[in-house]
Amino acid sequence: MYGRLLVSLLALTVIPVIVLQVFYSSYLISNIRNNRMQLVRDYGTLLMEDLLTSDYLEGNTSELIDTELRNFTGLYDGRALIINSSYLVRFDTYGMLTGKFMVTKASILAMQGSEEDYYDPLTDQASVTCVIKDDNEEIKGFILFFVSCSDLTNTYSSLRNTTIIVIFVFVAILTLLSFALARTFTRPFEQLGESINRISEGNFDENVNLSGFTEIETISAAFNKMKGSLKHLEETRQEFVSNVSHELKTPLTSMKVLADSLNTQDNVPLETYKDFMLDIGSEVDRENRIINDLLSLVKMDQGESQLNIANLTVNETLEAVLKPLRPIAARKGVELRFDNNRIVLADYDEVKLNIAISNLVENAIKYNIAGGWVHLSLDADETYFYITVEDSGIGIPEEYQSRIFERFYRVDKTRSRETGGTGLGLAITKEVIELHHGNIKVSSREDEGTAFAVRIPLVYKPEEENRSGGDRI
Ligand code: ADP
Repeated sequence: MYGRLLVSLLALTVIPVIVLQVFYSSYLISNIRNNRMQLVRDYGTLLMEDLLTSDYLEGNTSELIDTELRNFTGLYDGRALIINSSYLVRFDTYGMLTGKFMVTKASILAMQGSEEDYYDPLTDQASVTCVIKDDNEEIKGFILFFVSCSDLTNTYSSLRNTTIIVIFVFVAILTLLSFALARTFTRPFEQLGESINRISEGNFDENVNLSGFTEIETISAAFNKMKGSLKHLEETRQEFVSNVSHELKTPLTSMKVLADSLNTQDNVPLETYKDFMLDIGSEVDRENRIINDLLSLVKMDQGESQLNIANLTVNETLEAVLKPLRPIAARKGVELRFDNNRIVLADYDEVKLNIAISNLVENAIKYNIAGGWVHLSLDADETYFYITVEDSGIGIPEEYQSRIFERFYRVDKTRSRETGGTGLGLAITKEVIELHHGNIKVSSREDEGTAFAVRIPLVYKPEEENRSGGDRI
């Protein structure tokens, strides 16, 4: 890019300057030579009048004309010849050909009316032929001028030399500027390339700080933003992988401990065996739950294509959610209530919504107190339906509320484990709701209770790209 930019800049600056110089110079010199020839022709035209009126061509002499002509040609270091129609040279300012005949190709052409001017670069002389015609347009003779152009050429040469020096300096400055500009343009891209390489090597710490042009600064800011997202993604990924390994290892470790303790003891009573085997069984269930939850999340990560949308009655789905949970709530002494007054029809994936709301109600029971209550409600307007799950449980401290939807995040690990939690429930719930272009918001007070509010559009539009954020409720 640097090379191309440099060549382009040079092509756009230096080349036009040189081309302009070459063309302008040749135009200039030919223009001033033409001016001189025109001046001589104008003088010749004036002289013709005098020659005709004084019958100079027929033999009369005129000292005035001769002197004037000598003076004029003397000015330009030149020569003039006045020739009549018989090719007799009436006057030669050099005196050499006066009274002699001059029959040359040029004289014959002149007598035929041809008035050709030409410049001879070898002698640096211009020749101008002025044909003398009387009032009846009859050719009476002609004047042949030879004027030197060397004074013009000399002035022009010295001028050109100065110009060449100026142009050379100018071109040198332009070339240096082109180098500097090309460098300025390409440097940020090089820096960006270096940063991308560092990121590819896993180094997310350094920010790029490109400056100079607004566009470059915009790229720089966008790049840093993208790098921030990548860094966050990488951290989340690493955390997730380490969480997954840890979570999957915990039940296995428990099982190993239980099995080892049975193996190392002799004559273990059957009761103890049974107890231990029950524990091992529940650890297997736990492992199974984690794997199933992880599989659901992985599937949902593949996006909306995983949804099986149908137009259904939300009330029925919520009843189906509550059915298996009623005995659990009853066992815990928690009152489970559902305001099922209004029938709501909407587009959703029944299995997934069931899982999402089950997680919320299950949590509301799990993190509740004996004698507490869980209140499920359903409402709708013309665009959305709203589900709220409120409980009178232990609540979630303010500082943890923003993190509870993260995968494997638990406020109280021990309590979650005791109640069979995997730490994935709310992450799954949020994912399901967002796949339906809805959102979920939590509000909670420690030791008072928690409320989860869900909002989902009644009509599912697959092309809708923007997922609703938690702040939209
Ligand atoms: P878990 O399997 O541990 O229940 P979740 O993802 O379902 O995982 O919930 C994450 C954490 O959020 C829980 O460990 C718990 O600390 C907290 N939590 C969720 N729901 C409630 C609730 N209704 N009341 C109090 N705490 C809750």
